[in-house]
Amino acid sequence: MQFVRYKAARAGGELICVDARGTSQECRRCGAVVPKPLSLRQHVCPCGLDEHRDVNSAGVIRDRGLAAKAASEGGSPSGAPTRAVGPCVVPGRSSPSEGGARESHAGPSTPNDE
Ligand SMILES: [Zn+2]
Repeated sequence: MQFVRYKAARAGGELICVDARGTSQECRRCGAVVPKPLSLRQHVCPCGLDEHRDVNSAGVIRDRGLAAKAASEGGSPSGAPTRAVGPCVVPGRSSPSEGGARESHAGPSTPNDE
């Protein structure tokens, strides 16, 4: 098992995997790196941004996801559809196909429950 931390960001309904390392220390507003221990749950940046570190991290991840999406759309040589960037595995969707974005696990279904 690898312990490289990746998080999935959703950009326009597309699931994009981005490298989430350092996102809890990077300011989503100005991009400054604000080192903080894990015990510090608040992101306080000299630029004035003051919010929960997870909120800031989510913003950084989303921005990275959008950037990755834009980069893949703008620079795909073979016209391939936008897909996951980086070593990310989406369970049950190894080959994302168009038109049918069905989730196979929509809860515990018991067909013989009569
Ligand atoms: Zn800042």
